[in-house]
Amino acid sequence: MSSHAWLSHSLTDGRIECDACYHRCKLHEGAYGICGVRRVENGQLRLLVYAKAAAAHIDPIEKKPLFHFLPHSRVFSFGTVGCNFSCQFCQNHEISQYPKTKEHRIFGETLTPEMIVTLALKQGCQSIAYTYNEPAVFFEYTYDTAKLAHEAGLKNIYVTSGYETPKAIETIAPFLDAMNIDIKAFSQNFYHKICGASLQPVLDTLAYAHQKGIWIETTTLIIPTLNDSDKELREIATFQATLDDAMPWHISAFHPTYKMLHLPPTPHDTLKRAHAIGKEAGLKYVYVGNVDDASHESTYCPQCHNGVISRHGHLGECVTNHLMCSGACPHCGYIIKGIWR
Ligand code: SF4
Repeated sequence: MSSHAWLSHSLTDGRIECDACYHRCKLHEGAYGICGVRRVENGQLRLLVYAKAAAAHIDPIEKKPLFHFLPHSRVFSFGTVGCNFSCQFCQNHEISQYPKTKEHRIFGETLTPEMIVTLALKQGCQSIAYTYNEPAVFFEYTYDTAKLAHEAGLKNIYVTSGYETPKAIETIAPFLDAMNIDIKAFSQNFYHKICGASLQPVLDTLAYAHQKGIWIETTTLIIPTLNDSDKELREIATFQATLDDAMPWHISAFHPTYKMLHLPPTPHDTLKRAHAIGKEAGLKYVYVGNVDDASHESTYCPQCHNGVISRHGHLGECVTNHLMCSGACPHCGYIIKGIWR
């Protein structure tokens, strides 16, 4: 099944330009976008993975990671094959890079937007996450699903590298409740060489989605020697604190994978150092991930410093929430920003 990839427009020279992500591929008849799942067929851009889910699971919301969004709830998570990035450390490279490495082949189980919403409700989920690969590349599939999900009272989440165009953000914003956006590094060199992308569009997407009122948390996977200097971590934290000091920052431990098997796992001390840098930069909520470290995974009230949500486990998935329904600290009444119900 493929569908019209309508987030695109025709150019005067006969090519079609895709408007889903900052690569803005300009494609002749028969050509594929960088993501490998959008192709011009019969004069129209088609989404080849429409209703074809390559992975679907029920996850704890903390796994996305989102810590200030419906804590301890279940989220229906799915993704397709294909990606607009080519990160050498991708944990999901078997699906994200599949079309690029398998001569444009795709795979996926038929899951229509209607089926996804029905399954999510049946499984007691409160939200749907577009995740595992980059949601921008299957934009029209996310849009149709998100619209139906809202009608059914479910919330929607993008887990993304942040390469959506302003047009994509603007179009999905009425149905998108939260995003976890990667800030993979703060260097153009890193983005270019290791991910096949650029830094500035990610920063622009973050600012624009925030301006649109979408709840945002960010994630940085700390890779030894590549993005773990004090300087770079401080640049990320300062950028984010300037945008919104209440935007949670997740700093995750790297485990050797894919084309980065030669690098060691992130030492725990590095995560604690990054945590301290984030706090020094003024961020109110900084969390470590991929390690079991209750004291750095829990939420503390910025005003009275008491614990308000305790978490432990590698994903922070064991949760005790003491916040009031409004997000108020039960000790001093300070409002912790987030979406709590
Ligand atoms: S979503 Fe795919 S086709 Fe569209 S601009 Fe991005 S890489 Fe190109």
